[in-house]
Amino acid sequence: MELSGLQIFKYLPAAKKAENSNCKKCGCPTCMAFALKLAKQNAKIESCPYAPEELKSLYESSCKQPQNTVEIQGLKIGGENVLYRHEKTFINKTAIAIVVDKLENNWQEKLKRIENFEITRVSETMKIDLVIFKNFEELPTVKELRTMSFEDFKKLPLKEIIDEKFSKTSAELITIRQKAILEKDEKFAEPVYVYFKHTEDLNTLCAKASFYLCKYANMLVFENFDEALISTLMTLRQNIFTDPQKPLQVESKIYEFNNPDENSLIFMTTNFALTFYAVANELESLPVPSYLIVTPAEGMSVLTAWSAEKFTAVMVAKTLKKFDFANRVKNRNIIIPGLLAHMKEELEEEIENAGLDFKIVVGTVEAFAIGDFVKNLAPDTTAALKG
Ligand code: SF4
Repeated sequence: MELSGLQIFKYLPAAKKAENSNCKKCGCPTCMAFALKLAKQNAKIESCPYAPEELKSLYESSCKQPQNTVEIQGLKIGGENVLYRHEKTFINKTAIAIVVDKLENNWQEKLKRIENFEITRVSETMKIDLVIFKNFEELPTVKELRTMSFEDFKKLPLKEIIDEKFSKTSAELITIRQKAILEKDEKFAEPVYVYFKHTEDLNTLCAKASFYLCKYANMLVFENFDEALISTLMTLRQNIFTDPQKPLQVESKIYEFNNPDENSLIFMTTNFALTFYAVANELESLPVPSYLIVTPAEGMSVLTAWSAEKFTAVMVAKTLKKFDFANRVKNRNIIIPGLLAHMKEELEEEIENAGLDFKIVVGTVEAFAIGDFVKNLAPDTTAALKG
């Protein structure tokens, strides 16, 4: 169990109104400030000469890493500190490994498919994390992927669970993680992998592997290789292994769709990744080219950014200036999200104050409606639609 600042404070002189209270020898102005720093592991307990032995031993055990981290050629496995992502964040993604067995008839073709497999989602390109070669005297050469022999893999300090029955495997995974995190029991500190033997039933395999990915396999090892299965798992994994305190975001810049020119449509949104991809998908499929100006908003969606003052008229004017957009285009109409309709006048005023002559057009509330919106745009809104 991690100690909170308040739990630590109870042991310090100020809480007991003892001599030396708030003496500042630890470099902090008060004992409470020191306790809060310690709780975040931003201070050393030895810095306080008056910390009692009981606190030292409690703190030491609270700082102990509950799960080991195992590194395979730069791939980190394990090292988790929490049971639930929202408590802090998960640390190392559940690795996905494929076994290639020389006794399989079509192992060369399978290996080729593994080598060629890659998916890109939210600007992240993902490939198979590890290829494990079984029954090979000499390991085949593989480009850009980690490889190791089955024998070496079995020697790693990882706990193996061979998947047979869902209820048994899931219960075992949960027990191991709970013992490691809640009780810091060293017997359960090894990261865990689930081994799936070859099966024709890919739907069941996908359902089971998805559950184990969430709770609590550090690695999934498959004898099967199926692109659709792995794509599904990698997409799920990407959603689970994000820091809940840091929204997914894309770079703030001007994105181009279908080779725009100086007369093309101009859209604007914030850099929240999910908003960006929803809008980008629609712009890609428009029959006309377009620009998308993505403003910096710390990864917040449009309304959240507005209410947190991360999407302001001043910031919009600054973004246009920063990218020197007025000199890149002749079109002077910027389409903003419908949710920000109330900002139209404020935006136009600030843009004018910045010496620019863009006008604001209020667009759609939902991204899926962009196609119809563009069809019905007034002809003078953009030269791209003229003629
Ligand atoms: Fe409090 Fe110890 Fe820091 Fe002094 S050195 S202020 S007693 S925590």
